[in-house]
Amino acid sequence: MTHTGITVALSKGRIFEETLPLLAAAGIAPSENPESSRKLIIGTNRDDVRLIIVRASDVPTYVQYGAADLGVAGKDVLNEHGGNGLYQPLDLRIATCRMMVAVREGYDYAGQVKQGARIRVATKYVNAAREHFAAKGVHINLIKLYGSMELAPLVGLSDVIVDLVSTGGTLRANGLVAVEHIGDISSRLVVNQAALKLKREAIQPVVDAFAVATRNEALTP
Ligand code: ATP
Ligand code: MG
Repeated sequence: MTHTGITVALSKGRIFEETLPLLAAAGIAPSENPESSRKLIIGTNRDDVRLIIVRASDVPTYVQYGAADLGVAGKDVLNEHGGNGLYQPLDLRIATCRMMVAVREGYDYAGQVKQGARIRVATKYVNAAREHFAAKGVHINLIKLYGSMELAPLVGLSDVIVDLVSTGGTLRANGLVAVEHIGDISSRLVVNQAALKLKREAIQPVVDAFAVATRNEALTP
């Protein structure tokens, strides 16, 4: 299906909510709310701009292949995707949280690391986990999960998890504690590299408006 304007890929939930004010700054208002509408393609007040609603982890893929020109994706998701074909001009400073190592209360993480024990790590963020433990010189068995990571240490699937934490409420509710901070996470604007060249007149004003709205420097390639 061809669309001559620009297509923006967003995920439902916090990214959509926190991107709304940025879209407004660029003069873009969605004509429907994806939380209540079942539509995956959402029009806007502008004939030349539409939104597509995809799974958070699929945003980089849609933009990489040019099915969307722009998108908003977490640094966590981008790190797992690898960023191929994507230009990342702005840290939007939205959907902020921290990537942490967490364990069951009472598990002696520091002791295990000191002893050089092989640690079982359950996570959705396998690239981030591999990089983190390799840098520490810790040997791990990596167990890939797709969600509800908090459960893994409770039922003996893993010793630790690597997960995103904001308030820590979910960890606490499950008797887990964070023991290591891997990095700070926020969402980035991602742009298809070819689209930026071919449709710069349409895309650049959106990038610039997002930059102003987030008090950011737009890095023009
Ligand atoms: P799905 O729910 O479809 O499996 P997801 O869990 O990755 O995907 P969201 O929960 O909507 O999707 O999270 C989207 C993005 O928001 C994440 O990629 C991350 O960057 C950020 N995020 C995740 N958890 C939190 C959190 N607790 N607080 C703030 N931001 C978060
Ligand atoms: Mg989720």
